[in-house]
Amino acid sequence: MDFLSFDILSITYLVASVTFILGLKMLGHPDTARKGNLIAAAGMGIAIFSTIFLYNEGGVYLSNRLWIFGGLFAGILVGTYAARVVQMTQMPEMVSVFNGMGGACAALIATVEATRHADEPRLKMLAIVAGLIIGTISFSGSIIAWGKLSGKIRDRSFKGQQVISLSLLATIIGIGAYMILGNAPAGTIYLEIALCFVYGVLFVLPIGGADMPVVISLLNSFTGIAAACGGFLYDNKAMLTGGILVGSAGTILTILMCKAMNRSLLNVLIGSFSAKQSGNEEGPEGGHVKEMTLTDAAMMMSYAKKVMIVPGYGLAVAQAQHTCHDLEKVLEEKGVEVKYAIHPVAGRMPGHMNVLLAEADVPYPKLLEMDDANAEFSSTDVVVVLGANDVVNPAAKTNPSSPIYGMPILDVEKAKTIIVNKRTMQTGYAGIQNELFYNPKTSMLFGDAKAVLQQLIAEVKAN
Ligand code: NDP
Repeated sequence: MDFLSFDILSITYLVASVTFILGLKMLGHPDTARKGNLIAAAGMGIAIFSTIFLYNEGGVYLSNRLWIFGGLFAGILVGTYAARVVQMTQMPEMVSVFNGMGGACAALIATVEATRHADEPRLKMLAIVAGLIIGTISFSGSIIAWGKLSGKIRDRSFKGQQVISLSLLATIIGIGAYMILGNAPAGTIYLEIALCFVYGVLFVLPIGGADMPVVISLLNSFTGIAAACGGFLYDNKAMLTGGILVGSAGTILTILMCKAMNRSLLNVLIGSFSAKQSGNEEGPEGGHVKEMTLTDAAMMMSYAKKVMIVPGYGLAVAQAQHTCHDLEKVLEEKGVEVKYAIHPVAGRMPGHMNVLLAEADVPYPKLLEMDDANAEFSSTDVVVVLGANDVVNPAAKTNPSSPIYGMPILDVEKAKTIIVNKRTMQTGYAGIQNELFYNPKTSMLFGDAKAVLQQLIAEVKAN
């Protein structure tokens, strides 16, 4: 490698790595998240272009730049189009697809390297085989996760699935070891890819209901590890740092989400519950649902001292975040204190509600995390549940046979009165009925969240 360009290349990788770390840190707060994303993207741009123009082996630079730019151009077109047309509610699906593409890239790199250098030293072969296995599993698992989140694929499990999956995993590891030791025939790699692909499908297919966010985060960490293997293989510091950061961030997020649902990772992975199959869809016996009028709801809020809004997936579907912020301002003009109670898995992706409300410029200090919100419900006059369901379901605390039993939830029933807005009595993501709707303190305000909020604003102003 040419000494001068090697040095400049190392410096650009160092700069890129610093931007990844800085960007990740800034993603931790909604105020700085957008900037953090741009900084890390700029760093990635620097790493890509310096590799294309500065990388050389023995003074010979890359000769296939036309192919590289062709691929870059196609990727930019598809990525830009997808990011522009995606609805906020489809973001988790898009994250799954992007993650799958990362896994596929790592697996392709490993395939090329394995076929080019079958006689690589064992440590290098270990990185190649690990990248191949983890990348392929991450690819097929992410595609299944995309299908499930978009409702195209249903949860499926069959008798003996866990035994088959574990045997498959043992076979994959065995073949991998065989490849590392250098005795495998040339076609073994394709058998390994096929087995990993099937394992990824079987791994995600039975996981259902409220466990999908954990699986997506776990697959994300897999992709990071697979990319880090690529970085090790090419001795590319930027790829190595990026992969390690994605891998560790994904692992930390997975652990945090398991904690938020009060489940162990093993329980999520082999529990294989499908909430829609095991949930009780009936309301409580003799349960009675009370409806209220918009005028009564507006009156109750206007004369309250403290109102707590609980946003959920329905608010995102209705794209009612701006209207919600408007209601908050109108109420505050009347001297009402308004706050938001944010559940970590409300919506369809981690932090969904934070992103949604930040988009509507809701001041961040108004958003209370679950524990802080739970401490404030008993001093709250009116809780307004907007398109949330599972995250306020008391069955998580009271019904051991419920699929969401053990998941910490927002204790809205501690407030003096509860107003629930949704369109129908349909269940939420976990497919189970919610006793909260039958609580004597609860009144239902049926309708699309945006339309209801608009009418509430008019009523509050008129009060
Ligand atoms: P839920 O999916 O439990 O409930 C949303 C409710 O919104 C539904 O009951 C629906 O009722 C209502 N709704 C839908 N559209 C509208 C509308 N236009 N206006 C008003 N209401 C509407 O959402 P939660 O946020 O409470 O819980 C999230 C669930 O998703 C949890 O089970 C979580 O584990 C899971 N999940 C979370 C992910 C994450 O990372 N955050 C990822 C994947 C899953 P109706 O149809 O009657 O209107």
